[in-house]
Amino acid sequence: MTSTQPPLHLRDDGRTPFPSEDVTQWRERITAEAYRNYLYSYPHKTAYRDLNPPVPLEPLWREEPAESFFLYMHIPFCGARCGFCNLFTLPDKRAEVHTVYVNALERQARQWAAFTGSKPFARFAIGGGTPSLLAPAQLRRLFGIAEDIMGLDAATASISVETSPETLTEEKLNILKEHTVDRVSMGIQSFVAAESAAIYRPQNPDVVYRALELLKQYDFPILNLDLIYGLPGQTVESWLFSLQQAVNQGPEEIFIYPLYTRHHTIVKPEDIQRQPDIRHECYQAAQLLLTGHGYTQYSMRRFAKETAGTHKPILDYSCQEEGMVGLGCGARSYTRNVHYASRYGVSRKATESIIADYVSAERYDTADYGIMLSLEEQKRRFILKAVLHSEGLKLADYSGRFASSLWRDYPELGLLLQSGLGREEDGILRLTPEGLGYSDSIGDWFISGEIRKQMERFVLP
Ligand code: SF4
Repeated sequence: MTSTQPPLHLRDDGRTPFPSEDVTQWRERITAEAYRNYLYSYPHKTAYRDLNPPVPLEPLWREEPAESFFLYMHIPFCGARCGFCNLFTLPDKRAEVHTVYVNALERQARQWAAFTGSKPFARFAIGGGTPSLLAPAQLRRLFGIAEDIMGLDAATASISVETSPETLTEEKLNILKEHTVDRVSMGIQSFVAAESAAIYRPQNPDVVYRALELLKQYDFPILNLDLIYGLPGQTVESWLFSLQQAVNQGPEEIFIYPLYTRHHTIVKPEDIQRQPDIRHECYQAAQLLLTGHGYTQYSMRRFAKETAGTHKPILDYSCQEEGMVGLGCGARSYTRNVHYASRYGVSRKATESIIADYVSAERYDTADYGIMLSLEEQKRRFILKAVLHSEGLKLADYSGRFASSLWRDYPELGLLLQSGLGREEDGILRLTPEGLGYSDSIGDWFISGEIRKQMERFVLP
């Protein structure tokens, strides 16, 4: 392209391609329903189906082009199910159940290490569920599996573990410290006891403060706290109270989540509809409070101190998050062409039966449930993974990966620019600060028709 040609999102005559009334309507639609769908992965797991025939994992991983991988372990157990939770987890505190589960995870790791061992791991995360629910011996085993079986080099990988206030003990934190964990994340959701109770997560704020005191003694490089806004009975003032309590603890990172409810979560959409929807107001107030306290906004949910980070020399890992090796029941694995996992369920019966199948399996060397990504879906995923984060999408990266132009492939993205919810600067397409607040509706709008159809056909067990 010569410098005299207009950018590709403009017409040949230099005018914008969408009539202003279309742009206005589109913008109204995006901003009126800011909380349509949380796209934490694309394609969403409700688009997964039986893979017929099952995909053998050895050639799949051998051909995976990522330079380094992300190792994830899923612990699908919690003390109780929170009222908003639609994650793959089972309320079960029994130590013997956890031990049998870790035995299966170890069996799976021994088989997968042969497939994935040729590339180093740049990241390792233990999530759930509530990993810190495990007894110390089982928690320790997870690190052994990562290091001794999967070949994780803890000196060059960032390591993150999810915890909950009531399950933290010194013994468990010593294990995390011994294994050079860089980031400890704790789900708090609210510092107001009545709000926690309303989401079926009875939580005494004193227990939370005690856990935070303990955590601070260990001085992990990154402490992350998760909070939720839009809870039953919450007001903007009580939300800001919780947020301020979190800020007072000096965490390096804070994730703020809007409350989503579904027909299968314990708190139902109709329970929430009885009160005014204050989520966007809470979001805007949080943005002001957090940036005023020196946090930088990296996405609609993530705020962090710019200095947050580990001193380890971490290997590079693609921000588009391919090469994700997910061990455990409920973990998803991502290769460039295939995303797969165990089946997904939320009800107690379904989750129990899926975990029972997992722990009784002898072989874990094929993927039988997931989705094959067409080139079209790979492109959409590449765009969404970048554009919903403040670093944005480098147009040259898109052209380099797909040998085509973003604006030619998806001229509709010009709506972001024309509506003021996005901007293009120095060859990078990113959302504006206002646009970041509508990430969920923008993400939902950009889902392909095919994936939307699959998601709508999904019936949760
Ligand atoms: S939100 Fe977290 S702690 Fe609550 S049930 Fe779900 S996975 Fe467990």
